[in-house]
Amino acid sequence: MAILRLKGSVGSGSAKKGLPHNEPEDVTKVRNRLVELGFQGIDHVTDGKDKEFLHVLQLFQCITKGKHKLDWGDSRVDVHGTTHKWLAAQNAPGWVHLEGKSGIGWQIAEFDHGNSWGSTWMLQRVQLAGLYYRALVAVSGVADAPSMWIRDCAKKRGGKTRGHGSHQTGIDLDMRLPLLPPDTNKYDQLKGHDYDARFHRAAALLQCEAIKTTMNTRFVFFNDKEFKGKGLTTNQKNHSEHYHIRIRAEERVEGVYM
Ligand SMILES: [Zn+2]
Repeated sequence: MAILRLKGSVGSGSAKKGLPHNEPEDVTKVRNRLVELGFQGIDHVTDGKDKEFLHVLQLFQCITKGKHKLDWGDSRVDVHGTTHKWLAAQNAPGWVHLEGKSGIGWQIAEFDHGNSWGSTWMLQRVQLAGLYYRALVAVSGVADAPSMWIRDCAKKRGGKTRGHGSHQTGIDLDMRLPLLPPDTNKYDQLKGHDYDARFHRAAALLQCEAIKTTMNTRFVFFNDKEFKGKGLTTNQKNHSEHYHIRIRAEERVEGVYM
C-alpha cells in the first residue's frame, strides 16, 4: 500500500483554494510513486510542468478511467482528488514491459514496433486468463490446445501506436488465434492471412471463455459467427485474424492519501 501525503496540487494548471501548486516536495513524491509503479522517462523530473511528467500523469489517469486513447485527463493531482486517491490506491495501475514474460497458459508471439508495454492490470488479467484457460482445457479434454499468444499492447511511454486505432494506454491487447497440429507451436512464424484451414476452433472457444470470465473486458473483438452467437466476442472490422481485448478499469481499493 502506498501512503501519499501532499501539501498542494501537482501537475498542470495553477494553485487553487489557497493550496500550494507544484511544491518541489510534492512533485518529488508524485514522481517517485509513478516511477515505483513502472512509468517510464520521468526519473529526472523535478518540475511539475515537465512535458513527460504531464504525459505520464495523463496516461495514468486514462488507465484508471478505462480510456483506450490518450485523449482524456487533466494531468493534474489535486489534494484528495481522484488522481491523488488512485496514486495511493492499493491497486494503483502500474506500467510494465511484457517482453520476455510468459506464464501458465500464455506466452508472447511477437510485438510489432515495440508495442511491448502495458498496464499491470493487463498483465495480471492475462495471467489469470491463462490459468483459467488451462483449467478449462484439462476439464474439456481438448487436445493440442496451445497457450494464448500475446501480441501488441502499447508503446514504452504509451500514446499513438503505428498500425492500431487504439492501443494507447496499455488496456488493449491483441492475441493471435490458436492453430491445429502440425502448426500448433509455430506462433512465431504465422502470417495474418493463412489462419483459416489451421484454426483450432475448440481451443479458441476455451480461450475466449477464459478471457470473458477472468479479464473484466469491455470488448473482445473477433469476427466469427459462432463466437459472437455465444456472446464471447463482438464484431469489429479488421478483427478476423486475431482477438483484440480491451479491459475495464478496476474498482479502487483505497490506500492512504493525506
Ligand atoms: Zn488490436
